[in-house]
Amino acid sequence: MQDAYGRNIEYLRISLTDKCNLRCRYCMPKDGIRVLSHEEILTSGEIVRIASVMHDMGVRKVRLTGGEPLVRRGITDFVRELAEIPDISIAMTSNGVMLGEFAEELKEAGLSSVNVSLDTLNEETFIKLTGRDELKSVLKGIDSAMDAGLKVKLNCVPIKGINDDEIPELTRYAGEHGIPLRFIELMPIGCGVSYKGVPTDELLKRLKKEYGEAKAVSLDKVMNGDVSGPVVYYEFEAYKGMIGFISPITHNFCDGCNRARLTAEGFLKLCLYHSRGIDLKMAVRRGITDNELAKLISEAILNKPKSHSFGQEGDGDHRKMVQIGG
Ligand code: SAM
Ligand code: SF4
Repeated sequence: MQDAYGRNIEYLRISLTDKCNLRCRYCMPKDGIRVLSHEEILTSGEIVRIASVMHDMGVRKVRLTGGEPLVRRGITDFVRELAEIPDISIAMTSNGVMLGEFAEELKEAGLSSVNVSLDTLNEETFIKLTGRDELKSVLKGIDSAMDAGLKVKLNCVPIKGINDDEIPELTRYAGEHGIPLRFIELMPIGCGVSYKGVPTDELLKRLKKEYGEAKAVSLDKVMNGDVSGPVVYYEFEAYKGMIGFISPITHNFCDGCNRARLTAEGFLKLCLYHSRGIDLKMAVRRGITDNELAKLISEAILNKPKSHSFGQEGDGDHRKMVQIGG
């Protein structure tokens, strides 16, 4: 499935819910958001149907996200249903709080990997940043995911004055556990506009000071046949493991974008920060056939914007990240 710029769309991010058990300051307002009602969000059957049609059109990998995907009721049964689509790779992005409870059954249901968000290893900073005292559960969740045999990666969004002094601790923790850690540049989306992220080049400079010379790792070695994302990994002279950088702000990667997003309310979004897309829930509930659904999706994909519109007026999406599905 190609868009108008020849980009191959093979990766679908599915937001399962806009609910979350944390309140990360850069993602969700302190008092939460108006959550969608049960009727407003796609049912598991509707999501599986859309994923299956998109799989027939070339999607090879889905990532379950949110909100927090693990707060959706029936998550394990949903993963099991999704895993019936042949040759589809199922990944998840989670805050890790409930992974201790779910890791093993999710692996058994067909989940292959999980990216856990870990912005701090300091309990006080965790409470300040997320509004909840859950760091211990997250660390336990990471251990459980490893024990269950899931491929685990860590995501960290460094923010000036909040957690950017913890880069050495976070990299050390990841190295000791043998888990790839990826730093994500804070995007000016929703609550993110009130904070200042750390540019990748600044982080790289700091890490070179700590761990010596850096060498970019070839994508083939990292992805091992998996559908790739926008991350660039480095190895450092004195660091065991890899550290990745996702740089939507300072190193625009839209030219190689291979993804689309399905929001919890069934909107097929063509870019994280763009309002363009199509309401698939209405279409599915109107009773259209799979062929008609595929036609609708391929027409929408042709309308995928060339690049995101951070910092520009107009077409951006002005909802919070927790509602868009990060
Ligand atoms: N609740 C899950 C979690 O925290 O991993 C999944 C959803 S969350 C929206 C997905 C990712 O988006 C997290 O790694 C989070 O740190 C990141 N995120 C949220 N707001 C962001 C922003 N403004 N800029 C960059 N990343 C952001
Ligand atoms: Fe919840 Fe994830 Fe947003 Fe934090 S980043 S508030 S865990 S959705």
